[in-house]
Amino acid sequence: MPRTAVVIGASMAGMLAAAALARSVDEVIVLERDDLPDEPRPRRGLPQGRHAHILLPSGRDAIDELVPGGEVRGRLLAAGARERGLTSGLVTLGPQGWYRRSRHHDAYPLLIGSRDLIDRTVRDSVLASTTRVRIRRASATGLLGTAERVTGVRLTTDAEGGAGSSAGAAEERLRADLVVDASGRGTRVEHWLADLGITGIRKDVVDSGLVYATRLYRTPVGAENFPPAQVTADPKSGRPGRSGLLLPIEGDRWLVSLAGTRGGEPTGSPEDFVPFALGLRHPLVGRLIAGAEPLTEVTLSRSTRNKRRYFETSERWPEGLVALGDAVATYNPVYGQGMSVAALGARELSRELDRAGIGAPGLARRVQRAAAKVVHAAWTMSVGQDQWFPGVRGKSPTLADRLLSAYTGRMSRVATGSYRVSAAMCGVTTLQADALHLLHPALLLSTALGPFLPPLSGPPLTPEERNILSGLDTPAS
Ligand SMILES: Cc1cc2nc3c(=O)[nH]c(=O)nc-3n(C[C@H](O)[C@H](O)[C@H](O)COP(=O)(O)OP(=O)(O)OC[C@H]3O[C@@H](n4cnc5c(N)ncnc54)[C@H](O)[C@@H]3O)c2cc1C
Repeated sequence: MPRTAVVIGASMAGMLAAAALARSVDEVIVLERDDLPDEPRPRRGLPQGRHAHILLPSGRDAIDELVPGGEVRGRLLAAGARERGLTSGLVTLGPQGWYRRSRHHDAYPLLIGSRDLIDRTVRDSVLASTTRVRIRRASATGLLGTAERVTGVRLTTDAEGGAGSSAGAAEERLRADLVVDASGRGTRVEHWLADLGITGIRKDVVDSGLVYATRLYRTPVGAENFPPAQVTADPKSGRPGRSGLLLPIEGDRWLVSLAGTRGGEPTGSPEDFVPFALGLRHPLVGRLIAGAEPLTEVTLSRSTRNKRRYFETSERWPEGLVALGDAVATYNPVYGQGMSVAALGARELSRELDRAGIGAPGLARRVQRAAAKVVHAAWTMSVGQDQWFPGVRGKSPTLADRLLSAYTGRMSRVATGSYRVSAAMCGVTTLQADALHLLHPALLLSTALGPFLPPLSGPPLTPEERNILSGLDTPAS
């Protein structure tokens, strides 16, 4: 009998899981309840697509391994996305001050484009790389099988071949050797597992009450070369964390996302947008957009909780089922990790399939555990910051957290004046290096002795960028 895999969700985790599976089965059917657009456009199942997204180098490398030939990166850049080194190409006010931009090292490249472009590009690249993957418009409604082995999914389609449970929707059963749940933060997989008799999955939620507010602007003429700029929150200030990120994206647009934790939330009112940006720890983002032409209204998102499902520790886990991406965990989006964790999880699936083959006993459990290591790294970083914001729910700092935070706080300050220390921190925040790396004796010493250079009094801009900024400050007569 031909081997079949079913993937639920055709977004980042789903399409990359499909790419991984295509090498091991005869057919991969990706179920997606959205009508997928041919162009990079917002869609219902990807509401976060309107907000600023950065793809970390760890995610990019994982994608390269799953869809070889640099296909995704090449297509993204050809479509107008940009690549900027974290240590040189971004203007960043960190919690401890402005990071210097290295003139010599263009390390940790970030891919920057709209989430809708990334979504469309990943999907197209996977479909172009294999004939074994096909997307079917349908909504998964449950699992087939037992607590020992999942053998497929239940799904609904309507008369037009669309998804949902509207009148006329028929329920179907689809057999599969492996099912991947990549249906995102709204996954129903816990309920589906409960129907099979698996309950008591441990969960954690840490919620800083963060609200995102995003607006698109036309890039002002002459400002095309202005780099991405961000003003981060200082979690240790004792005040709600407010931040802003301006990303130049395809189509000569600036995508600006502002964010505030509980008590410091941005509103959806267009009148409040620029004042909020001007009121951040530094007014840079506000100054850039104050005279720019808005292209959209303000879109809000409250889907920002850190939420983790510990599938990997469940007492029972069926053969034939893997969950990846946001279906396992979500993080405060400010740290830009979700897509990369999804890609790294799919890479774990691919490596385990290559190593043991799809029929190997315990495969699903091993993939779940391997993917959990990446989840754990992102989770620790995100929660480690969020726990300090006033009014956070779900976690308060322990003594160990306080000691660690004192050390990393000092290290962040040293990083503003030391390329070596800042590069080491970037390695960890981009999920390329283990956090233990920060305890290397050379870094301990640098952290104890530093900072080596005085703090910068303002954003590290080149003379050309300074001219652009002051040009924007002066309204055209
Ligand atoms: C405001 C905001 C900003 C963010 N910024 C960043 C960032 O800068 N960098 C970053 O890496 N990440 C960021 N993220 C996180 C990122 O968007 C997610 O981590 C990523 O999209 C997860 O991919 P996924 O494939 O797991 O899930 P999703 O992208 O949520 O996709 C799930 C898919 O499953 C489909 N689906 C759902 N249920 C069913 C069903 N029953 N049957 C069939 N199909 C179904 C949906 O339609 C959708 O297509 C941000 C998130 C938010 C909210």
